[in-house]
Amino acid sequence: SGEEECPICTEPYDSGRHTQALLNCGHVLCSGCLHAIMDTAGAAEIGRVRCPMCRQKTPMLEWEICKLQEELLLLHDQPAPAPPPALAMPPAL
Ligand SMILES: [Zn+2]
Ligand SMILES: [Zn+2]
Repeated sequence: SGEEECPICTEPYDSGRHTQALLNCGHVLCSGCLHAIMDTAGAAEIGRVRCPMCRQKTPMLEWEICKLQEELLLLHDQPAPAPPPALAMPPAL
């Protein structure tokens, strides 16, 4: 065991926030941690992710970043609040 979890946050991989993300160096981490790394990266490292394990840099294409952001946005998206209950009174005829 231990192979199927993110080495950074130790959460098991899934198809949501902890989707496996493969870096150029061959290390794998979850998309949530990948985002955390990108969020804390300085302006000089925009478009690159430095592997937290071996510090090798992986260039991130813009579309990849956008895709990840969309995925996370979807995960953060709260369902719309339920509409107020309709008036139970039928029209009187
Ligand atoms: Zn993780
Ligand atoms: Zn690495």
